[in-house]
Amino acid sequence: MTAPVVGVLALQGDVREHAAVLRALGAEVVLVRRPADLALVQGLVLPGGESSVIDKLSRTFGLDGPIRAAVRAGMPMYGTCAGLILLADRITGGSDGQRTFGGLDVTVARNAFGAQVESFETLLEVDGAPAPVPATFIRAPLVTDVGSRAHVLAALPGGRVVAVAQGALLGTSFHPEMNGETWFHRRFLDQVRAAA
Ligand code: GLN
Repeated sequence: MTAPVVGVLALQGDVREHAAVLRALGAEVVLVRRPADLALVQGLVLPGGESSVIDKLSRTFGLDGPIRAAVRAGMPMYGTCAGLILLADRITGGSDGQRTFGGLDVTVARNAFGAQVESFETLLEVDGAPAPVPATFIRAPLVTDVGSRAHVLAALPGGRVVAVAQGALLGTSFHPEMNGETWFHRRFLDQVRAAA
């Protein structure tokens, strides 16, 4: 079987960590900076970083329209943290004029854990995963509303939603790529193979 060709949006953020996990899982990785790069891939990972910066750079590089079109065309995508924000149809706490690519029928609140709890690690039960998944949260967003088209994959105590899926789209508030955790990336690659 030929290796799936997947992109990591490489404008800002933890691009390398995602590329390393995807390569370790047998994928061919393209770093996506321009529309021509996006045209080469069968799926796209949106990394953690600063969603407002990635949003601006995507417009500078003319990638915002092509990414929106790819979402609409059903390209599998996985967003972590800032990447989840970028895939959300609605956000709160965005910086002035901040936009998203959209696709996930959810509302995401940026920096939802406040200054005192900037980052933490925990074990999460995830719908479909065989064992609890270690999850690292860094200035993480929360999913504050889940529309009828999206569904919840994981929540913190108190029902705070931190992982969602909708069709070929997947989003997590946390960073599995920082724990050597591969369940989400494998799920993403399964979707890429199924769509190809
Ligand atoms: N706080 C960042 C944002 O709003 C996300 C942080 C992260 O990706 N680790 O974009």
